Amino acid sequence: MLNFTVGPVQSCEAVLAIGAEQVPYFRTSEFSELMLENERLIKKFAHTTEDSRVVFMTCSGSGGMETAIMNCLTMEDKALVINGGSFGERFVELLGLHEIPFTEIKLEHGKALKPEHLAPYEGKGYTAFLLQKHETSTGVHFDMNLVSDFCKRNGCFLIVDTISTFLADSFDMATLGAGVMITGSQKALACPPGIAIMALAPSALQRIERTRCCCQYLDLKLALKNQERGQTPWTPAVGVLRQINARLKEIDADGGDAAEIARTAHLAEYFRRKLKEYGLPFEIISESLSNAVTPLHPTTQSAHQIFLKIKDEYGMWICPNGGDMKDSVFRVGHIGYLQEKDYDRLIDAFVDLRNKKFI
Ligand SMILES: *Cc1c(COP(=O)(O)O)cnc(C)c1O
Repeated sequence: MLNFTVGPVQSCEAVLAIGAEQVPYFRTSEFSELMLENERLIKKFAHTTEDSRVVFMTCSGSGGMETAIMNCLTMEDKALVINGGSFGERFVELLGLHEIPFTEIKLEHGKALKPEHLAPYEGKGYTAFLLQKHETSTGVHFDMNLVSDFCKRNGCFLIVDTISTFLADSFDMATLGAGVMITGSQKALACPPGIAIMALAPSALQRIERTRCCCQYLDLKLALKNQERGQTPWTPAVGVLRQINARLKEIDADGGDAAEIARTAHLAEYFRRKLKEYGLPFEIISESLSNAVTPLHPTTQSAHQIFLKIKDEYGMWICPNGGDMKDSVFRVGHIGYLQEKDYDRLIDAFVDLRNKKFI
């Protein structure tokens, strides 16, 4: 099967080989060194300040989102949250669950964030701002400079879910002044699922210090204390952390985050050019695209039916959408271990479906 979803995605040989090995014991200086190297490389690729920290939580990306809220926000906060699709909706639900006062800015699917969306909230005492840098469900890449400027003017603590965009689009945590950046192992890092990675600026460290986290497993005070020596409070997904290490070192050796982002951008452009060239009956639904994914509305057939057909008859996974977008949108991912020739195969399958009048 060829995998064009947005996670889990395809892994390179080095990462796959580690998956086939025995999982080593981890309370050792060797594993601690690996974890400190992971922290150093994430800081480098996320462009954090020197005094920022990184922790690796054994949970999926959503666990990282909840951890950020539980450790950094309280009932004294007043949060603004962007809801541009199902991941924005998740932040909204989490804020409700944890009883953090908030206002939701709901965007139409596919629409970019504009200054007029934020203008009504200027100078209104907001203390925190949460959003997806890239709302993966609709493939909308938000304007982080707009958000960063708003946060700096209004003194908002910024929590950014970069789960699908980290290493696919550029991100400079220090320049943006973000407090928390969250990503996951199974998106552009192209490792198996199981680890949420959180980069924490000094502003986040201060909030964590004074916030009482009512979940022991997700308490960042414990995670930070242990990570000082490259360890975790509980048994982590040891194998995935070793795979992350191999992948981070590979990216570093190949030119760092900029080279990895350029590689992904090239694949996205290649696919989008071919779509046009062949005049396939799909419309790009996002006003503001990320390199990570191309969100498509098929004009002649149900998106879900196309997903099933491509899976069952051509041996490839494109990424289906859920909920009210099930029949109207599918996505083609550009993260993970993919090459131009893989997209040629996908385009061939679409052309074949058109010849057969399926689309
Ligand atoms: C994939 C994704 C998540 C959720 O990650 P899980 O690992 O499935 O929990 C959250 N936010 C964004 C933007 C994502 O793309």
